[in-house]
Amino acid sequence: MNISTRESRTYRTQAIVLGHFEYGEADRILKLYSLEKGKFSAIAKGVRKISSHKAGHLEPFTHVNLFLARGRDLDIITQAEAINLMMGLRENLQRMAQASYVVEVLDRFTYEEGPNPGLFRLLTQTLGRMETHPNIETVIRYYEIRLLDLLGFRPQLFECIDCGEAILAQDQFFSPLAGGVACHKCGRARAEAWPIDKDVLRYLRHFQRSDWKVVAAIVIPEKIHNEMAAQIEAYFTYLLERRLNTPEFLRKIRGYGAKGTIPGEDERHD
Ligand SMILES: [Zn+2]
Repeated sequence: MNISTRESRTYRTQAIVLGHFEYGEADRILKLYSLEKGKFSAIAKGVRKISSHKAGHLEPFTHVNLFLARGRDLDIITQAEAINLMMGLRENLQRMAQASYVVEVLDRFTYEEGPNPGLFRLLTQTLGRMETHPNIETVIRYYEIRLLDLLGFRPQLFECIDCGEAILAQDQFFSPLAGGVACHKCGRARAEAWPIDKDVLRYLRHFQRSDWKVVAAIVIPEKIHNEMAAQIEAYFTYLLERRLNTPEFLRKIRGYGAKGTIPGEDERHD
């Protein structure tokens, strides 16, 4: 056993690059979500010079192995080796915007509070699935439901949050305050609860109790899907006490698609 009283000066970690900003003449500060230490920031020196080999491995969404040296304020990235460059997420605007949404959600819900290996795995798997899966929407809705579990916000969808009765397959109410569904009777007494469509609830429940292997094949009808996404966004907004930035952008580029640039999107009415 290696007994040492001081921490090693260097260490390695596996991380997803959440984002970055330029610092000084040639440096970049990276925001990372890592397996071993959760969210943290680190500096990559000289990375904006043309000769830098590290740069390509430090783009947003990249799954990367990092070697770091402890610094006084920020740790310094000495080496970066991509595990998955997630090139598929950079090929078109829509996919990039969707990946930005996934990353924004995680970023907003987490602090520099230490590791959450389940969350790291979910993020890595989700970005990987988004590269290849034909139904990105299914990937994203599944991500949201699992994320709520991992953060301790798993909504109660099977019994009424007030009377405990089993929720029936009919239109109900959702209370963001209580974090779950209230039956038709109880829901009306809650000022903060909003109506939730029975089909949306059906999909939410199915996603919550199933693993990815089951969910992967599901294609949610568009009308239900849009409502489901809106319900989750509203719940996120409530939990975060402010709106996310990326959903608005996603809606804008979908509108662009409605003009005929993305096949199959022509029949949208909103
Ligand atoms: Zn009730």
